[in-house]
Parts: sequence; C-alpha cells; structure tokens
Amino acid sequence: MNLPPSYPANLPLSHPALSATDPELAALIGAEEQLQADTLRLIPSENYVSQAVLEASGTVLQNKYSEGYAGRRYYEGQQNIDQVERLAIARAKALFGVDHANVQPYSGSPANLAVYLAFAEPGDTVMGMALPMGGHLTHGWGVSATGKWFRGVQYGVRPDTGLIDFDEVRDLALKERPKLIFCGGTALPRTIDFAAFAEIARESGAVLVADVAHIAGLIAGGAHPSPVPHADVISTTTHKTLRGPRGAMLMSREEHAKAIDKAVFPGLQGGPHNQTTAAIAVALHEAAQPSFRDYAHAVVDNAKALAEALLARGFDLVSGGTDNHLILMDLTPKDVPGKVAAKALDRAGIVVNYNTVPYDPRKPFDPSGVRIGTPSLTSRGLATEHMPAVADWIDRGVTAARTGDEDALATIRAEVADLMAAFPAPGLSRD
Ligand SMILES: *Cc1c(COP(=O)(O)O)cnc(C)c1O
Repeated sequence: MNLPPSYPANLPLSHPALSATDPELAALIGAEEQLQADTLRLIPSENYVSQAVLEASGTVLQNKYSEGYAGRRYYEGQQNIDQVERLAIARAKALFGVDHANVQPYSGSPANLAVYLAFAEPGDTVMGMALPMGGHLTHGWGVSATGKWFRGVQYGVRPDTGLIDFDEVRDLALKERPKLIFCGGTALPRTIDFAAFAEIARESGAVLVADVAHIAGLIAGGAHPSPVPHADVISTTTHKTLRGPRGAMLMSREEHAKAIDKAVFPGLQGGPHNQTTAAIAVALHEAAQPSFRDYAHAVVDNAKALAEALLARGFDLVSGGTDNHLILMDLTPKDVPGKVAAKALDRAGIVVNYNTVPYDPRKPFDPSGVRIGTPSLTSRGLATEHMPAVADWIDRGVTAARTGDEDALATIRAEVADLMAAFPAPGLSRD
C-alpha cells in the first residue's frame, strides 16, 4: 500500500484505491482522521459514527436512483433498495414510537423546508425561536428562505433565567396565529417542554413541529422526554446525538403521512441518497440497543459534570447549567470574546464553536459566547471523572486566549492528545 508521506502513521485506516487514484485527497482525509483522533471535539452537533455506519454509507447503494417510495418508484431495479428503505422506516417507527417516518430528507434544513411545503403557503405566518436565542435558521429567521418566503415571528428566552417564557410564546401565538410553531433549537441547554408547546399550538390552531435535531439521540436513549405524542410533526437530523450519517427524518401521526411524503418527494427533492438511508438504518439499529441508552445518559451525566466543573471555575453558563448534552457559556466575565476563545482553544486541540448568547450585545460573527457539548467525548468513553480535567483545559485555554500565551496552548494540546490516545474514537480505530 502506497500511502502519501503525510498519511497518519498511527492510524490503521487505509483507503487503498483512493490513495492510488488521488493521493492529494487521500492525504487530506488522512489528516482529518488524525485531527479527529487527537483533538477533544466539543461541538455539540458533532459526533463519531460507528465503523458500521461508515461502511454502510460508503457502499454501492450510492449507484442507484430511486425516486418515489418503496413499492411506488419511478425507476426499476429496486429489489434491494425498497427493503433498505422499509427497514430504515420500520426501525425509526419502532425507536421513536411514531405512526409514520420519512427517511429521505437530505439533511435537517431540507427536512424543515418540506414541513413548510406540507403545511403552509408562501407569505403565511410561522413561528420559531429566534436564532440568537438558540433557535435554528430554518425556523423563520430572516436570512433563511424560511424567513424570506414566510412571515417569521420569533420568541426567545427570558433575560433573567435564560429559559423559554411560555406566557410570551402563548401571547405571540394567539396574536399572530401562525400556521406552524417550531420548538427545539441549536443552543438550548434545557429540557424542551413539548406538552406546553402543544397546548399553545392547540389554542392558536397551529401545527406543532418539534425539531429535535440536536437531541434525537437523547430521546431515543430515554435521556430527554419525547415529543411523542405532543408534536404533530417531528423533524430531526440523523448525524448529531443520534450518531448516524448526515441526513434527516420527518416523523408524524398517520394523518400527516401523505402530506409529508408528498412534500419531500416530489415537492422538494429528487432521488433519495440510498447509501445514507442504509446508514440511517444501521444507526437506528444501534440506537435501539441497551448500550445506546447508557450512551445517552452518559452524554447528559458528562454535560452536567462539565457544567459543575466550569461553574466552579467561575464560568457564566446561560440558564445556569444544563439538562442535556450542551452548555452555552457567556465569556463576558472572562473578558475574552467568544471567537478569540474558540480560536485559541482550537490551537489547544479543543474544538468548540463561538456562539451568540441571548441578548448578546456583540455581533453574530463576533459574539460573546462559546457553545460546547459532550456527545463526541462520550462516544470515546470519557466519563464524569474526566470532566474536571476538561474544564481545567478550557479554563487554562481561555486564560491563555486573553493573555496571548501560545506556549500554554501548546502544552494543553499535548495533554489533550495524551488523554485522547487512551480513548480511541469509533470509526477511527480498526481492530
Ligand atoms: C442542525 C439543525 C438543523 C439543520 O440540519 P442540517 O443538516 O445542518 O441542515 C435544523 N434544525 C436544528 C434544530 C438543528 O440543530
């Protein structure tokens, strides 16, 4: 096997055909494997998929066109593909306890767009959490197609508690009468009260969409309450805590099945990505195992332990802590902008993202906060006893960011790589 010189020596991964055909690209992939192996990855929307998920997503299912749905395709030769998609659907329905699942959306954003197509007309009012409060672009935020083609009205969190103000949500919903209400988001460290949202949706005549992209794995593993039976539609990515391939699913009660399926295809998409469908099926199978329940609970235990350790080091956490997999820190008291901290931590081998905090006085591209999460480190087997060390590294990294101490960042990087070497990542270690 001829690997390019920059190929990581201590990773046993090999891509012989790729290395022969395109050594330049193989080297880049090899470098990314090394980076994912060596660093402490704390971005809450990321994870490490299993070897089985990686294998399924790299198969000849890639070669097949399958517009339509199982048994109702526009192309022949679906003997195997239909069974793959049916398996993924059956597993999604069983795991989440829903009547209907569509596993074809290419990703979370198109999945949400399909929901608009199914239940609203351009110009209709829709409601979601504001992006800077922790919502998602696709929940009607202005720069998104969903905020340009629909009239987005937005709710937030209370400035004093960092929690959703359900009186505000109810008042807004009754005044604006949105067609859709989205709940869920990207930077919400607390449990989502689906029942409270459902009551408001009922009162205001809206369709409730629970976008559980971030927490689907926690729900599957019993570490966060389920939106079933409260939400009319459940939208989720498959690649965050659910630990599957990059993709998405829409789930609902039977009454909305037709509308959702029609919206995904032919409304919005062409042929499904069958290799992704297969990998989703594998991830759902993994998520149905008892060990995944342990994983989901360990993610939350780790986040709580990390939050405690950060609070003990004087960090200011939005809402004062966490109930789930993520922590949102306001670095204003540490006198370091979020972006400066995030970039310094990256040099220290700790990968986070800078993020707005609610009522952030700074700009979205240069905000006050940093968002961190425990899904990836938990997939590597780190446990609560490691969280004080993680908090220490973050604390030292943020201090070094303020003082410009590059030596301190290099020292942290070496310490991080040491610990990471003892906890091989799924998909990056082939036994
Ligand atoms: C990640 C996310 C999405 C979008 O998913 P993509 O696959 O990045 O398009 C949508 N909604 C929420 C709440 C998310 O966290």
